[in-house]
Amino acid sequence: MKDLKSLTIEEMEAFLAEDLQQPKYRAKQVFDWLHKKMCGGFDEMTNLSKELREKLAAKAELRDVRQVAVQESKDGTRKYLFALGDEERIESVFLPHDYGNAVCISSQVGCRMGCTFCASTLSGLSRNLTASEMLSQVYGISKDTGVRIDHVVVMGMGEPLDNYENLIRFLVLIADPNGQNLSMRNLTVSTCGLTNEIRRLAEEKLPITLALSLHAPTQEKREALMPVAHRYPLDEVIEACRFYFEKTGRRVTFEYSLIAGKNDSEEDAAELGALLAGMNCHVNLIPVNPVEERGYAQPDQSAVLRFQNKLEKKGINSTIRRGMGRDIDGACGQLRRRFEE
Ligand code: SAH
Repeated sequence: MKDLKSLTIEEMEAFLAEDLQQPKYRAKQVFDWLHKKMCGGFDEMTNLSKELREKLAAKAELRDVRQVAVQESKDGTRKYLFALGDEERIESVFLPHDYGNAVCISSQVGCRMGCTFCASTLSGLSRNLTASEMLSQVYGISKDTGVRIDHVVVMGMGEPLDNYENLIRFLVLIADPNGQNLSMRNLTVSTCGLTNEIRRLAEEKLPITLALSLHAPTQEKREALMPVAHRYPLDEVIEACRFYFEKTGRRVTFEYSLIAGKNDSEEDAAELGALLAGMNCHVNLIPVNPVEERGYAQPDQSAVLRFQNKLEKKGINSTIRRGMGRDIDGACGQLRRRFEE
């Protein structure tokens, strides 16, 4: 079965011509149904003949997501649990902001990176998501909420750069002017620091934002929190981020989850300031979302502010992220685990 929603218009033209003997313009029609109208089934494609719709249904599939559960927070954040065609489950989050509506999507079922504070990695990696499954999270949420989605952050379950080809396909398709036409500037990809793929992404020269999950100011402390640091040493990660900025002109965002007693001291802040000195970057400080299985705690508010002050003195801009949706299993992977129990 052809994974129709993962195809570019050119690929769709080739498929429709070769497998179904259809003229070129059909591809544009089908693409419009899938990516602009976000249609959920072949029978909705009313400008195609019934015969063609049946042929399509026999040779191609849509790889939609099915809504299993949704939790709504007081702040308007909505957290979705979706089932895929094979009944695997993933999470996505809707975040309404004054500057537009954002969706946070998953890129894999589970994750194999093993970060010690993260719930998504607790049962390892099941499989990669296809581009169509990533798109379907955005389309499903847009249809459920009835609003246009302007921003997408690939920050849900999984490591996007561990699913490189499908990720790029997703980014290109969500920005396609014949589909949802999102500005690439409104797309963010978050990674735990796969240096080869960061460099490869930089060479694609897509004007997206790269977010780097740093979480520690030294190699030793980072290794203790993120096993992946053994494979990708901190200096090489920072070097890859500099390369990303050089190639794309896009300022890198560093994610730093503050964990009480692990990485939240003023000394840590000073070391972080030294590490990032002179870089065109921004730091997001996120008090860790406690995951029961892990036993990490959030620093109190005064420690968070002290950390930020120290960073500021070193000339590094940062934002303390308001923990949206904390009342609804905010941390990635928590909702899915709840349903597995
Ligand atoms: N694998 C990618 C993207 C998914 S995780 C990455 O590592 O960036 C998205 C972000 O949430 C990452 O910065 C990750 O480190 C962070 N994160 C995961 N669990 C968290 C928790 N319990 N509290 C705060 N941030 C967490």
